[in-house]
Amino acid sequence: MSKQTIAVLDRDKCVAGKKCSYECINFNPGVRMGKETVVKGEDGYPEFDEEDCIGCEISAKKCPFDAVDIVNKPQELDRPVHQYGKNSFRLYRLPVPLEESVVGIIGPNGIGKTTALKVLSGEITPNLGELEKTVDLKEAIQYYRGKEIQKHLEELKEKDVKVAIKPQTVNKLPKMFEGKVKELLEKTEQKNNLKEVIQKLELEEILERDLGSVSGGELQKIAIAATLIKEADLYCFDEPTSFLDVKQRLKVARVIRELAENNKVIVVEHDLGVVDYLSDYTQVVYGKKGTYGVFSNVKSSREGINQFLEGYLTDENIRFRKESITFETRPPSKPVKSKEKTDYPEFTKKYPGFQLDVEEGELRNGEVIGILGPNAIGKTTFIKVLAGEEDPDIKLDKKISYKPQYLKMKSKKTVKQLVNSQEILEQVFDLRIKKFIEDLYEKNINNLSGGELQRVAIALALARPSDVCLLDEPSAFLDVERRVEASKLIRKVSTDREITTLVVDHDITLVDHVSDRLMIFEGKPGTKGKARSPVPMEKGMNKFLEKMDITFRRDPQTGRPRANKPGSRKDREQKKNRNYFYASN
Ligand code: ADP
Ligand code: ADP
Ligand code: MG
Repeated sequence: MSKQTIAVLDRDKCVAGKKCSYECINFNPGVRMGKETVVKGEDGYPEFDEEDCIGCEISAKKCPFDAVDIVNKPQELDRPVHQYGKNSFRLYRLPVPLEESVVGIIGPNGIGKTTALKVLSGEITPNLGELEKTVDLKEAIQYYRGKEIQKHLEELKEKDVKVAIKPQTVNKLPKMFEGKVKELLEKTEQKNNLKEVIQKLELEEILERDLGSVSGGELQKIAIAATLIKEADLYCFDEPTSFLDVKQRLKVARVIRELAENNKVIVVEHDLGVVDYLSDYTQVVYGKKGTYGVFSNVKSSREGINQFLEGYLTDENIRFRKESITFETRPPSKPVKSKEKTDYPEFTKKYPGFQLDVEEGELRNGEVIGILGPNAIGKTTFIKVLAGEEDPDIKLDKKISYKPQYLKMKSKKTVKQLVNSQEILEQVFDLRIKKFIEDLYEKNINNLSGGELQRVAIALALARPSDVCLLDEPSAFLDVERRVEASKLIRKVSTDREITTLVVDHDITLVDHVSDRLMIFEGKPGTKGKARSPVPMEKGMNKFLEKMDITFRRDPQTGRPRANKPGSRKDREQKKNRNYFYASN
């Protein structure tokens, strides 16, 4: 019988032996560390002896950096598809490419999604956890005989399948290619469809620009275009919606869906609304960040997302999260018990070439106001005026806490030191907020990833003494799990503290979950913006979605909003009745 538990080292947390000053008392030798007994692997990390380690949890409890995990190995998952090295991350099972379908992949960061795509493309030859000798693809094929993935591995071996990947990190693009957008795309084109793709993704206006001078959202669309014009059988998109606004997300989703009419498509994505809209099937990835990740069976798109929210995989009988996530269904305009409110006046803000007109409005205590609108329409400008960072001075006379869109925190302090040095409401922090960032306490601010930094910034903004809390794009860089946690936290803290929180975001699921009312920004991006007064959810969503030409219904089981497939019966019916969105079931 194979062993059930084993210690695994998370290299992202380990400080590589420097501070290992304990021994495994179940020696044997298990974990051999301590002053005399640190066993350093070739690259300086402590090593565990897999044969001898009995998974007794002592090392996990003692490591001050929380770098050791005791992992339950489900029996049937005996052999990983790939393991990066001794005590390193292991990937179990793979995404399954299916003909004429989009398979959506949902799961947290650091769980092996990008690794899996690299296996599918042949960039990584899977080693089946065999570290001593090289493993032939033949062996992997043999191991996966009879499984859906066998066919793909065989094609890979025969070089019978071409895979095109839109990489996760698009900001590397300008470093890899110098020149104009147009030159990059023309050089990449293999399919004679460049014109069509440029038109569909609305890239005409930036073709002559240098790759180094375009915005994050534009880079994302360029990377997607560069993938669509390649000749391939399987197209993979690793996080295609980062930096895009709602309208652009839908546009990209539609283009990817069309691609699946003749191809196999796999999409890794953290925006649940987008996954739902574009996927025929989904796979959930679960496990432990940095240590191991398992791809679930292929599920219908609805089932996959619901089981993800539930934290429980039905077919596999595996619970991977203690709590389930539900979307409370509120009455259409939930009356916020508000004794107090703050009015802000109508105002105008001008930059050279851009003007924002803001209608007057009120902020009620204890409510969350979601803000929706395209990029470059003045959302950040509005937030900055409320925060008192930009003229005009509108004299809110309220204490403001503000999380900017672009985080520039630089500090040699650890997260814990930073938290302790700030003015925060300790009671609320300890009770509600601490859990959200506690795992990062020992890390230096300068070493945090984008998502980790985002979490710290959200936590501090919510914990500061204030009457109004302003959060500009809190979902950026957060994985799907953290988005859901963040929106729960924002709601809870705003209600508890009876403050008003304004949340600018492009993730419709998050905005729906978090908001009591909505503010809609419209106009002409980059030229003229109009900020409408806050309105009840249903009214705001209806107005916004009508412009986007998309309708939403509610999932009866989880209450989450689900986009109707364009042209479906529900879509046509709801459009006819001008009912683009249901605020409640
Ligand atoms: P995801 O795409 O789900 O965020 P990745 O596949 O990028 O996750 O990474 C999964 C884990 O594998 C991470 O803990 C990462 O640190 C680790 N990892 C990725 N590449 C390597 C590598 N070349 N060597 C060792 N570990 C790696
Ligand atoms: P959003 O948050 O909706 O994406 P912003 O409020 O950041 O939009 O920007 C709205 C418009 O104002 C954009 O065209 C932007 O280039 C312009 N803008 C923003 N800040 C400045 C500034 N300090 N000087 C000049 N133009 C600016
Ligand atoms: Mg990734």
